[in-house]
Amino acid sequence: MYFCDTHIHLVAAGVEGMADIWVDSAAAAGIDRLIQPGVRSAEWDALISLAERHSSVYAAPGIHPLYADQWDDEVALRLEELTRHPKVVAIGEIGLDAVVRPAQEVQEQVLRAQLRMALDHGLPVLLHCRQKKGALLAILRELDIGRQIGGVWHAFSGGLPFARELVDLKFSIGVGPILLRRNARKLLEVVAALPISAILLETDLPDPAQAPEELVKVAKRIAEIKNLTLDTVARVTTENALRLFDKIQEGNK
Ligand SMILES: [Zn+2]
Repeated sequence: MYFCDTHIHLVAAGVEGMADIWVDSAAAAGIDRLIQPGVRSAEWDALISLAERHSSVYAAPGIHPLYADQWDDEVALRLEELTRHPKVVAIGEIGLDAVVRPAQEVQEQVLRAQLRMALDHGLPVLLHCRQKKGALLAILRELDIGRQIGGVWHAFSGGLPFARELVDLKFSIGVGPILLRRNARKLLEVVAALPISAILLETDLPDPAQAPEELVKVAKRIAEIKNLTLDTVARVTTENALRLFDKIQEGNK
């Protein structure tokens, strides 16, 4: 039984030196594909070198809205180069965030630049959104991102009508350890109602998950909710990931 973690930060401030340990413990739990989103450009080289060292590890470099102020021509050029790397399977995590400091117009400009790059290179996107659902969705619709390249709405926490809207636009829903919380009633309803073909697994390690194996707990919970076997959840969510991230191939392991 094999799983794919579509959103795991193996390289991040405060968890230095953990990456290799986590890759090993993920493998021991059957998690044999790990996609690391980027957050800021200073970390991209570390993401890439980890992906080059471990067959199970892939990278999705990008600029998180928190670091939108860092975007400039040099950063854009470097990201453009990285899109051609064999283990770069997506651009992420990109989006809009109402809580962080960079101005909304800067965030939007950096998001649009990265979406255009993803379109140019046929790469899917890992989306981050906090309290900007309407604005982000409008941009994704305008650029027809879902149908052209697809993407994951990471750490989904909205209601069922919004989840259905995303699925209609050909986005996948990233489901993680929030599902394990006692008060996850809304997410539980979303997971119960959506087709499993729309669901991808993620831990967002190091927070909220603290260990890669928590992915398997999330998969078990989905299996209970949808009355499926764990094996089916593992197989179908992995197939979903391979369909979306088409640069991950059997031969590219
Ligand atoms: Zn993240």
